[in-house]
Formats: sequence, structure tokens, C-alpha cells
Amino acid sequence: MLIFDNVSKHYQTADGVVKALDGLNLTVDKGDFAVIKGPSGCGKSTLLLHAGGMLRPTEGTISVNGQELYQLSNRERGEFRQKHVGFVFQMFHLLPYLTVRENALLAAPNRGTEADALIERLGLAERRHHLPSALSAGEKQRTAIARALLPEPDLILADEPTGNLDPENAALVMQYLRDYQASGGTVIVVTHGTDGNQFATRSIQLKAGAQI
Ligand code: ADP
Repeated sequence: MLIFDNVSKHYQTADGVVKALDGLNLTVDKGDFAVIKGPSGCGKSTLLLHAGGMLRPTEGTISVNGQELYQLSNRERGEFRQKHVGFVFQMFHLLPYLTVRENALLAAPNRGTEADALIERLGLAERRHHLPSALSAGEKQRTAIARALLPEPDLILADEPTGNLDPENAALVMQYLRDYQASGGTVIVVTHGTDGNQFATRSIQLKAGAQI
């Protein structure tokens, strides 16, 4: 479903060029639970930005279901993202002035009934009308998962999703991603730790922007 073909990303900085990715080849099939590992700075976030259609690589191509992502117009890429991709971030990125339910509904405002069922399934029923400031880190991340899952995306991109969680909530979050995969979804998790190892159908180790 997702193919990186010889992808490089070079950032221009005041100190010169940083090669965040360097000739990366990667295939993720539909239904995979792909875990991409490597130390901080090895290019993991850059890879996810490329996969989500948010950052054009310097070289190489990225194809999703046979379509080259960066041959689409900006608007088409935005539509692709809305229809097909859900994001989960280490820092949650909830809107602080919206409740759990309102945050969950952000990308799929007409799915109120489904949102309530999902909120219940994620153990947030009692919290549905709370603002993020009143939530624990685990509850925040579960809200972010509700937001990512509600539009029923084909692909979830998760950037260090358990980085701010205690072990119990970390395990819960990975289990929810695993459940989504088991129901036919595709997951890509990037981590500098051991997140998702037990569920990985594909495991990729990055070092300095390339697979090792
Ligand atoms: P990771 O997610 O594995 O920590 P990143 O993809 O964030 O890695 O970064 C890879 C490399 O690219 C790092 O050296 C980082 O400092 C650099 N980098 C990332 N984003 C930018 C940017 N916008 N401008 C300049 N350098 C960047």
C-alpha cells in the first residue's frame, strides 16, 4: 500500500545540509503493523511526514496504492490525508478549548453516534465532556486515538505514541492500535524504544536516515 523508493530528504540549515533520510526504501503492505525504530535524529519523524503527504522528499518517490503522493496537487494531497490517514502524536495535539467528544469529532463531525461508541470503548465515557486540561496523559492519548480512528482511516501514523505515558496506558494505547490493525487497518509506529514490538509484522531499524 505504501512504497518509499530511494527517498532522501535534505534540510538546509545555517550550518549546512542535514541528510535526514538518505536513499530509504520501504514497503508497508495493507494490514501491516510496521514498527520503525532508531535513535533520536535518525529520520523517523521525517519519514512519517513524507508518508502523510505533508513533506515533499528531496529525492525519490512515495506511492500509496499505486499513486505517487507528491504528484498530486496540494489540495488532492489534503483530501488523501483526510480520507485515508489518521495521526497519533507523542504530545497528543488536542485542541485545549474542546471537550473529549468534540476533539474526537474534529475530523468526522457527522459521526456523533460512532464517536460515543468509540469513546465508551476507549474507556472515556465518564470524561466525554471534559477539557484536555482535566485529563491524565493516558486519557489525552486515548482521546487522540478516538480522533484518529473515527473517520475510519486506512492508515494510522503514530509518532512515539507512548512517549508520555505510564506503562499501563502505554500498553492500552498499543492494544488499541493492534485492534485497529486486526480490523483491517494498517499501522506505522515510529519509536526510539520498544513500542509495538510484540505486534510488529514488519520491523525496520533506521540509522542516519537509512535502513540497517
Ligand atoms: P527523529 O524523528 O528520528 O528524531 P527527525 O526526522 O526529526 O528524526 O530528524 C532527522 C534529522 O533531521 C535530525 O538531524 C534533525 O535535526 C534534522 N531535522 C529535522 N527537521 C528539520 C528541519 N525542519 N530543519 C532542519 N533540520 C531538521
